[in-house]
Amino acid sequence: MSKKQNLDVLVVGGGPAGLTCATETKSQLNASTMLAERAEYFGATPQSTYHLGFGVRDLRRVMTGPNYADKLEQRARNQGVVLKANTTVLNWTPQLLVDLAGENARYEVQARAIVLATGVRERSRHARLVPGDRGAGVYTTGALQRLVYQLGAKVGKRAVVVGAEHVSFTAITTLKHGGCQTVALITSDERDQTFFPLRWFFASRRRIPVLVNDGIAMIHGAQHVTGVTLNSGKHIECDTVVFSGDWIPENELARKTNLDICAGSRAPEVDSFGRTRQPGVFAIGNAVHPAEASDLCALNAHRAVNAIRSWLNDGEWSNSAVAVRVQSPLLHTWPSLVTRDDANARMLLRVSKFVEPHSRITVLQAGKTIYSTNHRRTIVTNRSFTLPMRWANQVDPTLGDVEVTITSSV
Ligand SMILES: Cc1cc2nc3c(=O)[nH]c(=O)nc-3n(C[C@H](O)[C@H](O)[C@H](O)COP(=O)(O)OP(=O)(O)OC[C@H]3O[C@@H](n4cnc5c(N)ncnc54)[C@H](O)[C@@H]3O)c2cc1C
Repeated sequence: MSKKQNLDVLVVGGGPAGLTCATETKSQLNASTMLAERAEYFGATPQSTYHLGFGVRDLRRVMTGPNYADKLEQRARNQGVVLKANTTVLNWTPQLLVDLAGENARYEVQARAIVLATGVRERSRHARLVPGDRGAGVYTTGALQRLVYQLGAKVGKRAVVVGAEHVSFTAITTLKHGGCQTVALITSDERDQTFFPLRWFFASRRRIPVLVNDGIAMIHGAQHVTGVTLNSGKHIECDTVVFSGDWIPENELARKTNLDICAGSRAPEVDSFGRTRQPGVFAIGNAVHPAEASDLCALNAHRAVNAIRSWLNDGEWSNSAVAVRVQSPLLHTWPSLVTRDDANARMLLRVSKFVEPHSRITVLQAGKTIYSTNHRRTIVTNRSFTLPMRWANQVDPTLGDVEVTITSSV
């Protein structure tokens, strides 16, 4: 170990959430801010996502992923954030003494605040326990994008995409760019989970079928993929399989540093300002809400800056947060901790199965209903719906966890 530096804020992760948070802590708080990114470039996934649609809600512009990522990096540089690429954060102590591995050396940083913005990844074929041969030709959408767009590689000729959410449909274009035709999307759900125009644009106009209520039972091909057999018994010949969605937060560092982890999302528990239960440690972006669009991750970073200001200026840290618990078919919420300060936030919720229109969402504490509302629309899997949090004003920190339930109208 060599060289120890003192810093106000250390941001871990150089995606949209981390870059935005670092820019804002430097510009709004004039705090000495360093951002550590383990990759050799900044911007994370948007750097390999070439379609338009980035930056709409945060920068109020419509951009491609790489343009958006470059813009966020440039803003951070212009503000004087110290940007460290090829730098992995390995651990920290309860006193926020952080252990980092840079390009050529390990070193320590003494931070006053740490912001975890480590993002999210898709579960691999192995994590999904998909049986069969282990031949080449199996990817996640993230790995596929990087291969095709950043490294210019060709992947195969005929692909099956597992999943039918937004990112699954964008995989069709990535595959096409890599010289590969998509022969089917497969989802275990009863319907796909994207918007009609996106489904039409990416799949329907090319007559690519979405096979519902199905999944891969077996992958064939010892050297290279030759086909898949589905749970329904159908066999599809293909040389490429792309596993999309099924998000898991990059939570290894959070677990190593003993942050409380939400059982449903596997993300560190946070309130809507990104405060964890460890004073001085914040977590933002898709590390805490797997997985939302990048502009929402950036906006959520703005929210954390207010709490970072209170922490740096006054050492203010709420210890009155209560946890949010959910019942099936709800999977998880962001935030997963609630204080009365959260009353102006909007909660993000996800479900494990489609819920028909006019379901009832109820928030309870100690068995007493503190909020109840009728949700008029269908609730779709793999997409968040939101709930205003004005009920947070009524949360009593002495009464324990808050519970959120959903009751179907049918
Ligand atoms: C394949 C794919 C396609 C997507 N497509 C879209 C899309 O079209 N539109 C859209 O809006 N969103 C899309 N998303 C969602 C995407 O996650 C968000 O756009 C956004 O990148 C999330 O921002 P973030 O800052 O929270 O995390 P990320 O962007 O994931 O950034 C996290 C960063 O933290 C770094 N990191 C992790 N651990 C460490 C450590 N210990 N030390 C140092 N650095 C570390 C990682 O290397 C990474 O760069 C897509 C995601 C994926 C995976």
